[in-house]
Parts: sequence; C-alpha cells; structure tokens
Amino acid sequence: MWVYRCLNNFGGGKEVPTGTCPECDADVHVDTDTDKGESVSCEECGTDLEVVGLDPVELDIVEEEDLDDDEDEDEF
Ligand SMILES: [Zn+2]
Repeated sequence: MWVYRCLNNFGGGKEVPTGTCPECDADVHVDTDTDKGESVSCEECGTDLEVVGLDPVELDIVEEEDLDDDEDEDEF
C-alpha cells in the first residue's frame, strides 16, 4: 500500500517512509508498521510528533500540557 518515490537508493529494497518535522523541517523516519495516531520523536530536535496521516506521512506536533502543574486532581 505504500507508494513512495524512492529518490535516494540506499542499496536496500526497503522503502522507509518519512515525514517532515513541522518544528525543524527535518526528515523523520517512520516505521512502516506505524499506525495513524502513534507518536514518533524527531531525531533532530526531539519534538514529540503524532502521525496524523500515512499517505503521505504527515506529522503534527504533540501539544504538551503543562507538566509543571500539579496533576493530583482526583475529581473528574
Ligand atoms: Zn524536528
């Protein structure tokens, strides 16, 4: 199902899908078995990214909530 134009031939026959990091524009390699909604990390800037699309691979920055806040709330 993966349709990619492999302009870079690394010698292997395996096509590695890549997305673009919205934060730093780096190519982020995504596992071929990665599903939509899974998280990957940008190797360049370390930003947590969520896979929002697979064909082509689209990545979105995971908005981190303020982890500094106390999350001891028991009420829902
Ligand atoms: Zn990045």
